Amino acid sequence: MEFHRVSRRAFLTLATRVGALALVGCGGSEAVASPPTPTPTQELVLAPALRTATPAPVTPSATPDPRSPVLDRRIPRPFAWPVQGGCLPQSDALLPNAPRTYRNGVHEGLDFYAGSSCAVIQFGTPVTAMYAGTVVRAELDYRDITPEQVRQLGELTAKQGFSDPQTLDTYRGRQVWVDHGGGIVTRYCHLSSITPGIRVGVQVQAGQQLGGVGESGTPEFITAPGTEMHLHAEVRIGDTFLGEGVEPAVVRSLYLQLFGVA
Ligand SMILES: [Zn+2]
Repeated sequence: MEFHRVSRRAFLTLATRVGALALVGCGGSEAVASPPTPTPTQELVLAPALRTATPAPVTPSATPDPRSPVLDRRIPRPFAWPVQGGCLPQSDALLPNAPRTYRNGVHEGLDFYAGSSCAVIQFGTPVTAMYAGTVVRAELDYRDITPEQVRQLGELTAKQGFSDPQTLDTYRGRQVWVDHGGGIVTRYCHLSSITPGIRVGVQVQAGQQLGGVGESGTPEFITAPGTEMHLHAEVRIGDTFLGEGVEPAVVRSLYLQLFGVA
């Protein structure tokens, strides 16, 4: 989404009349700010929705408009769905930020399950790259999680009250990661297999097959095999994930923009 710069004076006039704006600093931001007190050194950027010669008055709302958040401009787009014919999961429980009580943490990606993501999802369903990039992780030597690990990790997360990075990594199972530059990395998790030729350093194109859907790394792989067949796909931005800390409606807006359907 484009932004247009305006002079500080014009901006203040618009801000006063419109009553709401998006303030984007260096590198961009997904957050919608309340009307700020600008300083002369700030670069003011006006969202397209507010860019009119004679803006019509709008009533400021206390709740964020899910159409307002703007996807970080550092993220390339549009992304391709990582499963053919995919769509955003219907349930908020399958989105980033959803609680994951079994490991005392929150979800950091999108879950694509059969029946809730517009796609055929079963053992071995092709998992494809969401954008062109370089493979930076491909667990060709992956070893399945064991009953003892499931028990130990369950105890550890309950004791800690959160999931540490190593625990999260184990729960993600067999993985492929693709680096898209600029700190943007996508992760494809719980895979049942990795496609021949996919290894660290290989360049992949959007839509190229990386592996097959599975349930590796999930506790159910041990406790109820065959019941957790799904793709968990993450969009990492540096040390965080796309949509971290925002409500489900905003998460949906950001990911719809990412996939070019909003
Ligand atoms: Zn997941």
